[in-house]
Parts: sequence; structure tokens; C-alpha cells
Amino acid sequence: MNYKVMQIETSNFCSLTCSYCPHPGQKRPKGNMDLDTFKKCIKLVRQSCNPERDQRKFVWLNHFGEPLLNPLLPKFIEHATENGVEVSFASNGVDSTNTMFSRSLWQELADSGLRGVGISAHTRPPEDFTRHLDGILDILYFWEPKKGNFHDWAGQVDLPSWKVTQSDAAPQQPCDYEKEHMFAITWDGRIAACCYDIEAQTGLSIDDVIANGYLFEPISLCATCTLGRGDSSWLIPPITSSPATT
Ligand code: SF4
Ligand code: SF4
Repeated sequence: MNYKVMQIETSNFCSLTCSYCPHPGQKRPKGNMDLDTFKKCIKLVRQSCNPERDQRKFVWLNHFGEPLLNPLLPKFIEHATENGVEVSFASNGVDSTNTMFSRSLWQELADSGLRGVGISAHTRPPEDFTRHLDGILDILYFWEPKKGNFHDWAGQVDLPSWKVTQSDAAPQQPCDYEKEHMFAITWDGRIAACCYDIEAQTGLSIDDVIANGYLFEPISLCATCTLGRGDSSWLIPPITSSPATT
């Protein structure tokens, strides 16, 4: 099968309401993925991996929202690991009071098979997380929006500092989601065309993909999007170390 599950949205609840993110305006229902749906997702990840192209089976456990708000996350990671699928996710690292998620939770995730995490440092400096996760888990990357490292989500967020013209977007080569027929699966089993697709515009479900496969079709956001048009190296993160132990 020539398609690829890029992301699994384990939760679309979020502990923050960042002004530069479309999540606060999201209209579809909020929820946490259940174990049966997650198992279905992992089965699809395994089936959709192309052995000639994907030497590693890998999937991100986030789409919109904070994965650590799903209490089943350790079980999900354990299940993926047992089935030969490497996982990671992006986390903002904090609860709604800006308190970092506990070291014991991070240790439980590491013990379940998590080998690294990306931290979006929205509310605290990266050094806080470096210290907090020391000896438990590798931090694969930091995203620091306060350094201006952000975009307007293909026009979904009003960002005066973002200067993309139509000529930067539409005439460029197909994005990686189109080239690879990649998609994300939301917490309730809908198919999102890409990591910008906050409302899951495809109208498809995971059961549709299981039954009929998946062929990329543009969504309305494509007309104003510049994401992923070129370098594909970001598709799978460079996890190099074994899980840290304390
Ligand atoms: S950027 Fe991340 S942390 Fe901020 S509101 Fe969006 S999903 Fe939540
Ligand atoms: S919105 Fe952008 S990233 Fe998403 S499918 Fe369209 S061109 Fe690709």
C-alpha cells in the first residue's frame, strides 16, 4: 500500500491556548483516543509502511492538542513498541497551570518504550525541560515560538508578521503529504490531510482507509500553504540513543 500514517492524534484537548495556533478555534469535538482505535491505527501504520522506502516504522503521536492529557498514552506507547513501531510526539510539556508534567509520568513513558520527545517551549524556557527530563528521556528538538519561529497555518491564524504571498505557495512543487500520500488520524478516527488540517477536511475515516486505501486529494488550505514543499528529512526524527534509565 503506497500511503503513510504520519500522525496519530492521541488527544485534541490542550492545556494552552496559544494565540498563533488554530487549535483554540477548532470546531470538531474534543476527546481522547481509546485503546481500540489506537490499535487500529498501529495496524494501519504497520500495513502502510513500504519496506523499500521505510526502513523504520515510525509515527508521531500528536496532531492538534497535548498528547500527555490522554492517560492511556503509556499503554499506547507500549502497544506500538510491542508491534515494532517507533513513536515520538511533540509536547508543550506543561499542564494548564504551567506546571511541568511530572518526572514520574515521563519515566513511565520512557519505560513504555518512548525514545525521545520534541518540546514546544511556549511558556517556559528550554533549559527548564532539559533539567526536568535529564536522565529520563532525550529531547529530540525544541520549538521556540517566542523566537519568531512560527507560521500562519496556511492562513488559519491572523499573524501580521507572516509575509507569504500567493506566489510563495500555489506554484511550488507538491507538498510531502501529497507526494507520499501521508495523512493524520484524529482521536475519533477521522482522516486529516496533513498537520495543518485542523478540522479533518477529507471526510474520510480510518475504516474507509482500511477498506479502500488512501489517495491524496487537495483540501481548501492547499491554496495558501507553503509547508513541506521540498526537504523530506523532517518526516522521521533522528532518534539515535536507547531509552535512558535512571
Ligand atoms: S500550539 Fe500546541 S500548545 Fe499551543 S494551543 Fe496549539 S496545540 Fe496547544
Ligand atoms: S494544506 Fe499544505 S501541507 Fe496540507 S495537504 Fe495542502 S499543501 Fe499539503
